[in-house]
Amino acid sequence: MTIHKQMVTQPAKQYEETISVSCDICGKDHKGAQEDSEGVNWGNSYNDVDATGVYIKAGYGYSDCGSHRTTHYHICPTCMKKHVLPFVASLTKNPLSNYVVDW
Ligand SMILES: [Zn+2]
Repeated sequence: MTIHKQMVTQPAKQYEETISVSCDICGKDHKGAQEDSEGVNWGNSYNDVDATGVYIKAGYGYSDCGSHRTTHYHICPTCMKKHVLPFVASLTKNPLSNYVVDW
């Protein structure tokens, strides 16, 4: 039995990655920020949680499957606290609700 082999060159893997996200209000570019379906995590490292989200999701389905579209603004935490939250607070009498995770 003879086994015949040849050298094969595979093209390098090419993929798209987010380098930075710019705030839609102040325009500041945040390196390391990562976009997801509900907004942006503006933290600089993998475990940082500093996320904001102003979005509307419409359609039908379960979580990330089905048929729906999410449209959102990218608003950094500074602009969220300075501009968006005060504006929303001016429209409602309800206080901000909190969801706390503590390990
Ligand atoms: Zn901003």
